[in-house]
Amino acid sequence: MHEYDGHELVVFGHDPPTSLRAIIAIHSTALGPAAGGCRMWPYATTTEALADVLRLSRGMSYKNAMAELPFGGGKAVIIGDSRKAKTPELFQAFGRLVDSLGGRYITAEDVGTTIADMASVARTTRFVSGLGRAPGEAGGDPGPKTALGVHLGIKAAVKFRLGRADLEAVRIAIQGLGGVGHHLCGLLHAEGAELFVADVRAAAVQKAREQFKAHPVTVEEVLGLDVEVLAPCALGGVLNSQSIPRLRARVVAGAANNQLAQGQDGSALQAAGVLYAPDYVINAGGIISVAREYHGGASEAQVIADIHAIPARLTEIFERARRENRTTNAVADQMARERLAGRSRALVA
Ligand code: NAD
Repeated sequence: MHEYDGHELVVFGHDPPTSLRAIIAIHSTALGPAAGGCRMWPYATTTEALADVLRLSRGMSYKNAMAELPFGGGKAVIIGDSRKAKTPELFQAFGRLVDSLGGRYITAEDVGTTIADMASVARTTRFVSGLGRAPGEAGGDPGPKTALGVHLGIKAAVKFRLGRADLEAVRIAIQGLGGVGHHLCGLLHAEGAELFVADVRAAAVQKAREQFKAHPVTVEEVLGLDVEVLAPCALGGVLNSQSIPRLRARVVAGAANNQLAQGQDGSALQAAGVLYAPDYVINAGGIISVAREYHGGASEAQVIADIHAIPARLTEIFERARRENRTTNAVADQMARERLAGRSRALVA
């Protein structure tokens, strides 16, 4: 399987009483215990679930390294429909699976899982973050923190690509209005951006229309709109050989993980003159929050200060890519790999 990339450990879990079927992938613990969320998704096959968890866990190694967090990369997937198959017992069984790894993997919420689900996980393991918290404390739902990082990242990309310091009347298309996308709309609207939104859930579109004066567009239209910025905030693989020729945005900067279907799609974006903000760099706000919460004792203000480091990191990548005439994703991957390798060497020495 080409998604396999020297992962340290892959564990398949099955708990017949709760019907849990889960996979945990630990890509790297070179920088610390592997941290990354648990996705619940109705994968058609185990092979599809395995491919996803392998890709996502490597992404977490890169994301945590680039965010300068003392964590390695891991991820979990639960095979099932999050709208129908959730029970507290299922998440407790998942917690036992996490616990069996003795702290090599730390979980949190992701697509299809919530704070309430993590509360169930926390009944059977302490290796979980993204739980409820008191006002002012670090942690809680990572979605709004991810949205903040993406908002700051969009501003950095707009400044770099369009030479504009503000978002007034900048046209931005947002694909996906879930935990991150909806929040992001609020932040962009507050700065005067003109929003175009699409979601498969009509109610989410209606809410964005009412709250942020967003223009609804169809899920087919959203990728090809005549806008300055496209923010993919739904699922991965949206930047591919079919969609890239249709893009009219000059910047792609959004929250979704694994936006590029393949590494070479970054070259197609570069050739088309589109500035791509590498997903795992711009969407690190949530894991920064989860990491601070896990270590304890931090305030929300510290999390927000950490997230404000994201735009400078992106600008460094944009500048290096321009200087070296390389794609932004290749530059980011190289920087992440250097950080991982540097640490591994330091551990060996
Ligand atoms: P979510 O499940 O709350 O929202 C996803 C939204 O996308 C839903 O409203 C869904 O209806 C919509 N959607 C699905 N398919 C669509 C399509 N084809 N067209 C348009 N809309 C579609 O997830 P989220 O937490 O908002 O995360 C969004 C993305 O960001 C995911 O890829 C996730 O992995 C990534 N991400 C999230 C976080 C976080 O903190 N939540 C952190 C990093 C990365």
